[in-house]
Amino acid sequence: MDPQTVFCPNLDCAARGQVGKGNIGIHSHKERRYICHLCRKTFTETQGTVFYRLQTAPETVTVVLTLLAHGCPLQAIVCAFRVDERTVKEWLTRAGEHCEQVHAQLVQQPRDLGQVQADEIRVKLQNAVVWLAMAMQVSTRLWLGAVVGTHRDEALLTALMQRVRACALCRPLLVCVDGFRAYLGAIRNVFREPIPPRTLGRPTLRPWDGIHIAQVVKQYAHGHVVGVLRRIVQGPERQVQALLQETQDGGVINTAYIERLNATFRARLAGLVRRGRSLLHQTATLQVGVYWVGTVYNFCTAHDSLRISLSVGRSGRRHWVLRTPAMAAGITDHLWTVHELLSYHVPPSHWTPPKRRGRPSKATKALIKQWC
Ligand SMILES: [Zn+2]
Repeated sequence: MDPQTVFCPNLDCAARGQVGKGNIGIHSHKERRYICHLCRKTFTETQGTVFYRLQTAPETVTVVLTLLAHGCPLQAIVCAFRVDERTVKEWLTRAGEHCEQVHAQLVQQPRDLGQVQADEIRVKLQNAVVWLAMAMQVSTRLWLGAVVGTHRDEALLTALMQRVRACALCRPLLVCVDGFRAYLGAIRNVFREPIPPRTLGRPTLRPWDGIHIAQVVKQYAHGHVVGVLRRIVQGPERQVQALLQETQDGGVINTAYIERLNATFRARLAGLVRRGRSLLHQTATLQVGVYWVGTVYNFCTAHDSLRISLSVGRSGRRHWVLRTPAMAAGITDHLWTVHELLSYHVPPSHWTPPKRRGRPSKATKALIKQWC
């Protein structure tokens, strides 16, 4: 137990979410509890993680969730581990919600994305068909998030583009998509910013500079692709080519990377969306399943195409370093284990003093000075 690496999870505490400030001590080694000396509250080591107050051993939960993240059928897990289906579903829900928070904190940070590819897949649930739209950064293979909707329309794609925007810096960006027209409206709606108004009223929205859109339209005959049309819908061709050269091998407009990722998700979600005694009856459960699979993909799965070679020692012998998308994007410096992901503590935002009329008291002033 190391109090220097832990923060106070109490939302009413002025020190919440801050690490290494000396306010945390060890309350009990036996029960593995910490104490915050500022708010006098104690909390267990697992608070804020997936393992909090679970009756099953963390090792078992980790193994079961790892299997689910790689597409293992639910029936196999129920049979092998002698756990109830509903228990597995509860673990998955916890893990998915936890991963949404991890994603929001670590992945949804502004970065120079270069090229982004987006696509949508049709998922058959027990009594319904839903659409799952996803996006990825090509150069690092980083999964940027997903949205689930009942219709394949502009609202679904707008929600997806808002996720992409949350990860983007206002730098030249190329978005490669399929021939679906609603993408254009969604991208143009999301990538714009209000100009500070000179008069009262709604501010004018100005589109971001450097947003390039390219489409890959596949032509089908009898269920087979017979032709591929590649076109630039927005932005000068020279810059589109430059962005393509920077972020991938060969400079052809394509959606191959996101299609490969879709195939990975299909394979890994198969265990979750299988019909019959399905784990995923509802859209909400699909959403948590997707975030679980996606975050394990980002943080715990090394990619051959992302490995780099390093020379070791004076002999100059080279060896390969495996990297995950999160490592390639500079979010972390090592390959995470699934246990590490499940026990990651997402810090709450820093404390802000409550709004009150009049001047703040001396005690509040002291708290603001130390913790804000
Ligand atoms: Zn506290």
